[in-house]
This record gives sequence, structure tokens and C-alpha cells, in this order.
Amino acid sequence: MTATGATDAAWPPIRPELRGLEPYGAPQLDVAVRLNTNENPYGPSEAVAADIAAAAGRAAVGLNRYPDREHVALRQALAAYLERDTGVALDVDQVWAANGSNEVMLQLLMAFGGPGRTALGFTPTYSMYPEYARGTSTTWVTGHREADFTLDLDHVRALVAEHRPSVVLMPSPNNPTGTALAPETTDVVCTAAAEVDGLVVIDEAYGEFRRTGTPSAIERLGAHRNLVVSRTMSKAFALAGGRVGYLAAAPEICDALRLVRLPYHLSSLTQAAALAALDHADELLGRVADLRAERDALVDHLRGAGLQVADSDANFILFGRFDDRHAVWESLLAQGVLVRETGPEGWLRVSVGTPDENQAFRDALAATLKENVRP
Ligand SMILES: *Cc1c(COP(=O)(O)O)cnc(C)c1O
Repeated sequence: MTATGATDAAWPPIRPELRGLEPYGAPQLDVAVRLNTNENPYGPSEAVAADIAAAAGRAAVGLNRYPDREHVALRQALAAYLERDTGVALDVDQVWAANGSNEVMLQLLMAFGGPGRTALGFTPTYSMYPEYARGTSTTWVTGHREADFTLDLDHVRALVAEHRPSVVLMPSPNNPTGTALAPETTDVVCTAAAEVDGLVVIDEAYGEFRRTGTPSAIERLGAHRNLVVSRTMSKAFALAGGRVGYLAAAPEICDALRLVRLPYHLSSLTQAAALAALDHADELLGRVADLRAERDALVDHLRGAGLQVADSDANFILFGRFDDRHAVWESLLAQGVLVRETGPEGWLRVSVGTPDENQAFRDALAATLKENVRP
């Protein structure tokens, strides 16, 4: 016993379910070619950076005041942007933003999950979902994906009926596999979840990278009041460091989030930076088409090298399978290329970078495969 009353093994007096856990996070290593966190490899131009800095400078003059709690100007700009991306006109009351879509989704579980409630996902999927569930004492239940990482809709319907989830979390495209939901899935899942009073959160963090013909779930908002579509400025928009995520949903759902958000959760600097960035959407998103083309070329290249590669609607690719994926990961790292050791056993994930970065990855992988770490 110490003077505080707790034994050393019980110090600090953390919630029992957190004891001994490791924090989530990809390694942030200082490596020449970082293709491990699905960032946009292209930073803002000097002109855009200068505009963001000027906007932050104007906001700085008012930093003695709390920011606009309702972040109305930002929600308006995000609604306009979503209309541009999807053709769907949205009211400002249907849009809500926070510090990254991770915060948006945590707020959703704070408001709609909780003790005695269940959230449902389908593995392999984004590894933060169980953490939102744990943080909000929501029971986390997972189903599975097919061998090609798509969803079997009968399996989805059966699990929804069995577990009666308050929230179903589905990324489209899925991370770490890159798989987009089939077009009919949103309707099927929303209808099934509505019968058990559940929300369906389609996490479109990589939505802008979807292939032609893959619809956005935003198009189905008008049909389902229990549908929430989450987006972020971190990926296609090249603003991961700005920490801005948002969602589109029924106004009543946004109202519920007002009950759980922290006061003034979005700083004036964040709001100013995001608004300035949205003014330059054309430039910031201008490279998305290049990245999609690079992705498709990289998928072909990896398949040509005899590897298994998941279809990708995202800015990353899951490839394998390796008997010892850690050895492959280490060999790439030794050659200055950082990828992500994630997903099912035997697979690795690589983010699509600039053409030079992708070439460095191809070269390092060729050398690795030659060194007999054969799939
Ligand atoms: C990167 C990512 C996000 C975005 O996170 P932010 O908090 O907006 O940076 C959300 N969902 C998935 C599946 C992701 O991979």
C-alpha cells in the first residue's frame, strides 16, 4: 500500500476495462517515404497556406472570445461542398462538424450508444470503432466480411435482428480493405436498422476517392431518417493536421449531438482554417483524380507481381498475402518505405503517394520479394 491507499499494481486507479491497454496509433517514424496513414501526399500550395494563415490571423484577434459554438459559417460551407460532390442539396441543420470525424463518431456513440446498448461493425474494419464503443461503455459486436471483403446482406440483416444495435458503423470505402459498399447495401441496412430503432453510420472518410459509378450514401439521406454519413477533411482534402470532420444527417440527429459535445468544441482557429481551405476546394481536391489513377496503376502493378490485392475505392491498397508480413514490413522500412501492418493476418496496407513515392515503394517491394520473403 502507498500513502494514496492503492497498491502499486492498482495505480493509477483507471477504469478496469482500460487497465493494461496500449493506445491506438500508427508508428510516426521519421522515414523518407511514409505510406502508412492514408494522408494526402500533396500539401497545400503556398497561396493556399498563406490564405489559411491570414484567416487564422484574423481569428487570432478575437481569441479572447469563445468561438461560434454552432459553427454556422463552417456548416454552411460544408453543406455547399457536399452538394457539389454529390449533387444533393442539404440544409445547414443537417450538417455537424467536430475535430476530425473520429470526434464526430465518438459523439454519435455518446448520444446513441452507452451502457446496455450495442454497436455493430463488420471486420476487418476501422480499428477505432471498438475504441469509441469502449470509451462510451457501448457493447461492441462484429460480424464478418466475405473473402473479397464485401458484405453478405443476409448476414448483415441477421446480425441486426439478433443484436438490435443502436448504431451500425460501416465505412465505405472500408479501411483497411478499400472496399466500397455495394449500392443497394445502404437501403438494406437502413431498413433493417430502422426496425430495431438503430442508426446507420456510413463512414465516408475516403468518399472522394470512390471509383466512377460508386454512389455516395449522401444520395440516400432523403430516404432514411436513421442514416448518418460521416466525412472528413483529413484525406482527400489534405487537411489531416487541421482536424476537421463532419456529418450529414437528419436535423434531430444533429440536435442530439449538441447534448454531448463539449462546450465550444471547435476552436475559432480550426473554424477559420477549415473555411479558408474550403474556399480552395478546387485546388486541394485537384490531386484526387491523380491519386485515383495512381491507385489503379498500383493495383495493376501489384497484381502483375503475383500478389493478392483487394479492390480499392480508396487512396490505399491492401495487398498480400505473406507468410511473415512483419518481415516484409521491416524489409520495406529498412529501405525507407513505411507501410502499415494492419488488416487480416498476412496482409499489408499501403497508402497511395506521389508518383516518386509509389515508385520507391515498388522498388523496395521488388527487392523484398526477391529476397525470398515470398507470398
Ligand atoms: C482516416 C479515417 C477517418 C478520419 O479520421 P479524422 O478523425 O477525420 O482524421 C475516419 N474513418 C476512417 C475509416 C478512416 O480511415
